[in-house]
Amino acid sequence: MSKSESQGSAVLDRPQIAPRLLFIGGRWVEAQSGKRREVIDPSTGRVITTVAEGGLADLEAAVAAARKAFDQGDWARMSGRERARILLRVAEVMRRRTDELVQTESVDVGKPVTFSRVVDVQTVIEEYEYYAAQAQVREGSFREVPGGAKAYVCREPLGVIGAITPFNFPLILSNNKLAPALATGNTIVHKPASETPLSALLMAEIFAEAGIPEGVVNVVTGPGSLLGDAMARHPGIDKIAFTGSTEIGREVAKVAGEALKPATLELGGKSAHIIFEDADIERAVGSVIQGFIFNTGQFCMAGTRLLVARPLHDAVVQALVGALPQVPLGNPFDPATVVGPMVSAKQRATSEEYCRIAREDEKATIAVGGQRIDLDGGFYFQPTVVTGVSNASRLVQEEIFGPVLTVQAFDSEAEAVALANSTVYGLAAGLHTRDIGRVHRVASQLKAGIIWVNSWAILDPSVPFGGYKASGFGRENGPEVLSYYTQVKSTVIAP
Ligand code: NAD
Repeated sequence: MSKSESQGSAVLDRPQIAPRLLFIGGRWVEAQSGKRREVIDPSTGRVITTVAEGGLADLEAAVAAARKAFDQGDWARMSGRERARILLRVAEVMRRRTDELVQTESVDVGKPVTFSRVVDVQTVIEEYEYYAAQAQVREGSFREVPGGAKAYVCREPLGVIGAITPFNFPLILSNNKLAPALATGNTIVHKPASETPLSALLMAEIFAEAGIPEGVVNVVTGPGSLLGDAMARHPGIDKIAFTGSTEIGREVAKVAGEALKPATLELGGKSAHIIFEDADIERAVGSVIQGFIFNTGQFCMAGTRLLVARPLHDAVVQALVGALPQVPLGNPFDPATVVGPMVSAKQRATSEEYCRIAREDEKATIAVGGQRIDLDGGFYFQPTVVTGVSNASRLVQEEIFGPVLTVQAFDSEAEAVALANSTVYGLAAGLHTRDIGRVHRVASQLKAGIIWVNSWAILDPSVPFGGYKASGFGRENGPEVLSYYTQVKSTVIAP
């Protein structure tokens, strides 16, 4: 990777990315319509490259390729051990092509290169290693049936999986689905987010290089309202694995339900950090900052509601106000950068609008931040803390998907739990306390799929995550996810 010197620190160059095609049946093809779509660098607002704008005819071809690979190909029939070897090769090729993956993810999403490397790419390598191990565990069970019949019960792959993924963690949230789906012998049609399609196309190259047979993974880029909707309806797709907003997830669930197709849904969040009076304040404030500014707040598990014991309220707000302006914000290709731009002008406008609502409609206080930053034409927005909000505030109840934190005080443990559980969402929660009894008591009452204690966002391929309530249905990661990519078959043998 070449480097240039800028203001004393080594800033990486942005990659040159050639125009990209669709990946269908192991071949790179133009959209049948010939249409293309520009991909924008969020840190400059400039065009990075173009991708083919797939349509329904391209989706048809991709489903046919995935169907053929599942129904007639080797993938579902080979042993788990053979699939595991190929998945390990995916991890190896990713490791070798790490720089390319890092640059692609950073230029597409505006993600600081430091995080693309140590979080996004590394996590996906570990996913493939983890699910290579899981691919080899093919267990079933045996039952004695009264009358002398004997039954064995096993799991089989579902078939063709339609993966529909969001813009914010393109690599991780796609491969959270692809790795377990592949490990269990399914084939895939993947539609990445329109804003950030580039790493999915690079992964298609990596799959081919690693020896995944043609037709097993197909990538079609194009509009979600057309392709995602058609995938949920398509009789050739056996299951939908969706990550995105609650609003679109609800549509996908309706359409897939009509087609009697299973759908797992990883949706929005409005997660709470709770700081109790006995917490290690410095550590808690560090977790809160990381929990809401990471990926510029475009993080389903972002901890965007801070609930703090009343006696600590002012000190904690003061600590946030002091610390946030010091966080390095700017060019994602500078290894020192912690906060990059938002993915698009539209996402930034949403954060700006919520700050306007806070100031003008709700008469709340913006304690720090609240402004866009004009830098290099990128979509930058300051990390923002809003105080003086009621629990009914739109800023407290609605997912903003930007770096905007609200702060509320509480007077008792029961009130903290009630506030934490008071939105429609239930993805994650964090609690900060030194009291182990309180950890057990509070964690068991929080309606969220993952609870972090004295930390935020410790994630691992072995640990399931997913939402309660409007944050979704199903889980990703861990062995738990495998049941969502397989179905149970009982074979009963008469005596
Ligand atoms: P989005 O819902 O706008 O889009 C998600 C995907 O759905 C994209 O690929 C899009 O093209 C596609 N799509 C659009 N319309 C569709 C339709 N009618 N039918 C089928 N698919 C359609 O979400 P986004 O803006 O890309 O991502 C942000 C949202 O995703 C936030 O709400 C965030 O909380 C959520 N998210 C959840 C998780 C999780 O694990 N729970 C993780 C990341 C993001």
